[in-house]
Amino acid sequence: MNDVHDAGVATELDGAARARLTEILGDRVRFDEPLAPYTSWKIGGPADAFANVRSEAELAAILRLAHRRGLPWFVLGSGSNLLVGDGGIRGVVIRLGGAYAEIAVAREHGQVVVRAGASAGMPLLVAQGASQGARGIGSLAGIPGSVGGALRMNAGTDREFGEFVRDVAVQTPAKPDAHTVTPQYFYRHTTLARDAVVASVTLTFPADEPAAVREETQGRLVRRKATQPLNVPNAGSCFRNPPGDAAGRLIEAAGAKGWREGGAEVSELHANFIVNRGDATASDVAALLARVRRAVAERFGIELELEVHFVGAFV
Ligand SMILES: Cc1cc2nc3c(=O)[nH]c(=O)nc-3n(C[C@H](O)[C@H](O)[C@H](O)COP(=O)(O)OP(=O)(O)OC[C@H]3O[C@@H](n4cnc5c(N)ncnc54)[C@H](O)[C@@H]3O)c2cc1C
Repeated sequence: MNDVHDAGVATELDGAARARLTEILGDRVRFDEPLAPYTSWKIGGPADAFANVRSEAELAAILRLAHRRGLPWFVLGSGSNLLVGDGGIRGVVIRLGGAYAEIAVAREHGQVVVRAGASAGMPLLVAQGASQGARGIGSLAGIPGSVGGALRMNAGTDREFGEFVRDVAVQTPAKPDAHTVTPQYFYRHTTLARDAVVASVTLTFPADEPAAVREETQGRLVRRKATQPLNVPNAGSCFRNPPGDAAGRLIEAAGAKGWREGGAEVSELHANFIVNRGDATASDVAALLARVRRAVAERFGIELELEVHFVGAFV
């Protein structure tokens, strides 16, 4: 799967597109920017243009530009669920910040209401929500990444992000000003249009005792530290759990723990995690994922589906 919104033939950025991007963003657009530092796997080739966008007006201008010129574009969150190809991403990679990073938490009529911009970090959102007693927010504890990524992925554990969403505002090439949409949420995906950029989200939780919610949240973070390889670059669970089973259990039972391809290794701690031993390429990870998938299919007749998104050029 490749999520770049390619409006036609993959286009190299020409001088005019570069000039217009610079006009909109000044030195907040960079060209041929390596993407590895922006992903939790620390893997990935360069973006033709890397656009640090700080306001609704800037994003609207970039979406209009991409639409008009047929430029491919991709919105990057915190890069914690992405395998970016070694050949990088053609067109414009959009990274939100500035006004999109705001979080406001308030108690209103027996509820905790969290309003957050798309680039706000989930760990901060969970900490702030917990300190106001947002019951259920512990289910989102320990999920790295941004609010926009969590919405797109319907991230979660025993409960999912979408369960708590009241409103979502998006911007799209056809309608670049922020407007509300009402997607449906499923296990690790949503019906949100592929070309919609999440701008902000409002979440509601029943109000509870802050101390109790904080304690539950802390407990979950501690359990994660014991069961996930958090000190080595990874992208969380690589495969979705098949109905009624756990991908990690199947991979372990297929004997894949510790398998390596180049610098990529199936984690000894959690078999559904692939860790970067330092010099892994996207091709190493892709080869290891394919090998694991084959082994599970041969042993159990189950075709695992990827949870991580592949994006860009695999060389
Ligand atoms: C250690 C670790 C633990 C993890 N644990 C969990 C877990 O418990 N549960 C779980 O569900 N996931 C987990 N993940 C995976 C990952 O954190 C989530 O999928 C997360 O929601 C991805 O957010 P992100 O901002 O990093 O998105 P990215 O990886 O940057 O992008 C993921 C997708 O979202 C899209 N996207 C990002 N921002 C926007 C936006 N503003 N508008 C529209 N689309 C957008 C991207 O285009 C891409 O298709 C874990 C990952 C790691 C590294």
